Amino acid sequence: MKTDQTAAAGNRAVGNYGLVICPSCNEIIDTLPTNGVKRMYSLCESLNCREPQVSKTNAGEE
Ligand SMILES: [Zn+2]
Repeated sequence: MKTDQTAAAGNRAVGNYGLVICPSCNEIIDTLPTNGVKRMYSLCESLNCREPQVSKTNAGEE
């Protein structure tokens, strides 16, 4: 299962690793070997996240 890669990366990130997180979908994109746990934000490769954030109308949400 391809999702296992993300899970494995998440497990490994617990500790002295910096996390690179997509601010749009909150996915952990990558981990970096750093002193202490740090969080950085970078857009992932998803087209939905790379598109400019436009205020969307939540049709049908009401
Ligand atoms: Zn994303």
